[in-house]
Amino acid sequence: MDLKTYIRDVPDFPKKGIIFKDITPLLRAPEALEFTVDALARPFRNQKVTKVAAIESRGFIFGSCVARILEAGFIPIRKPGKLPWTTRRNEYQLEYGTDALEIHEDALSSQDRVLLIDDVLATGGTAAAASCLVRELGADLVGVAMVIELSFLHGRTKLNGIPVHSLITY
Ligand code: AMP
Repeated sequence: MDLKTYIRDVPDFPKKGIIFKDITPLLRAPEALEFTVDALARPFRNQKVTKVAAIESRGFIFGSCVARILEAGFIPIRKPGKLPWTTRRNEYQLEYGTDALEIHEDALSSQDRVLLIDDVLATGGTAAAASCLVRELGADLVGVAMVIELSFLHGRTKLNGIPVHSLITY
């Protein structure tokens, strides 16, 4: 299946100069959604993944479906102030300023083998910060999977050593 036909480019969203990769055409097509979650999970089927961690908010859509396929639990990684329990936080650099992600302190343990999911890998800062949180809790990070990789931004270099699985590359 050619998944690129289900991705809509929206120029200058959310700000001028950004070409936003809109996944909603893919989400509304049952055959494309099914294909996507199956393809995200496929390389990790025999890797004894115990938890799928996903990044707010579009990562959640795919992450929970992949967790079902891998018969794993689901762990939300969220923007600051959203998680109700005791959290661990990781701040990371944006082009201008900083952002942060949080995870519940009891979300993972050293017994866990984790697959991290998001919709888009751009500069890699978000996925790298989420990867640190997973590892800080002592879990084994098996890989990172995303629907879209913007390879011209070289996000992979920030994930050195972690297996990266993307379905569509621009
Ligand atoms: P980054 O930290 O630069 O890799 O950015 C990744 C995060 O920003 C992901 O959670 C994406 O949802 C979002 N993102 C970055 N660039 C785009 C884009 N061009 N289209 C859609 N989402 C994007």
